[in-house]
Amino acid sequence: MTAVEVLPNLEPQSSFRQKVESLSGESISACFQCMKCTNGCPLASYMDITPHKLMREIQFGLKDEVLKSRTIWICASCETCSTRCPNGIQIAHVMDTLRQIGYEENIEAAQRSVPLLHKAFLGSIKKRGRVYEGEMILAYTFKNESWAGLFKLVNFGLTMFKKGKVKIIPSGVKAKSDIKQLYKASELKG
Ligand code: SF4
Ligand code: SF4
Repeated sequence: MTAVEVLPNLEPQSSFRQKVESLSGESISACFQCMKCTNGCPLASYMDITPHKLMREIQFGLKDEVLKSRTIWICASCETCSTRCPNGIQIAHVMDTLRQIGYEENIEAAQRSVPLLHKAFLGSIKKRGRVYEGEMILAYTFKNESWAGLFKLVNFGLTMFKKGKVKIIPSGVKAKSDIKQLYKASELKG
């Protein structure tokens, strides 16, 4: 007896494509599946949905599949796809938009470590005006791996410190208040 393939239960939402197009300003409807984006993407082999398929899923309104994919978090925003698209679709910008929608709708990221690193990086800049690597790595590792992660970091941290790669006292910037204003403005926009 042959095994019966169980197909995923897909629930298309036509408004999803409109939302992504309106927020990103990109005409995803124009994609005709030439695959130039996927063929040029350096990370396509690590993605669960390749870029051209992701565009198709957005056209079909497959919101859950798109927002829960690893692809949107693996994308490095290198823009190779955007420069190759014959329809001028800024795919990297679409990826940014998808991450933003997922974040705003509290959808758990399939690559949890990526938004945690973004948060630790931006948090450090917000506090000091520029990134302080030691603080960023500690905040990221603790959120990602808890105490076990911090213990694993000890030897690595000591080596980095001895080589002068991590400073004990962080350096700041003069325009710290301007940077805080930028953060405030971007939070208001969101
Ligand atoms: S921006 Fe993202 S999807 Fe596009 S080529 Fe780079 S890694 Fe791939
Ligand atoms: S390169 Fe552009 S048109 Fe071609 S598949 Fe990718 S998004 Fe669609």
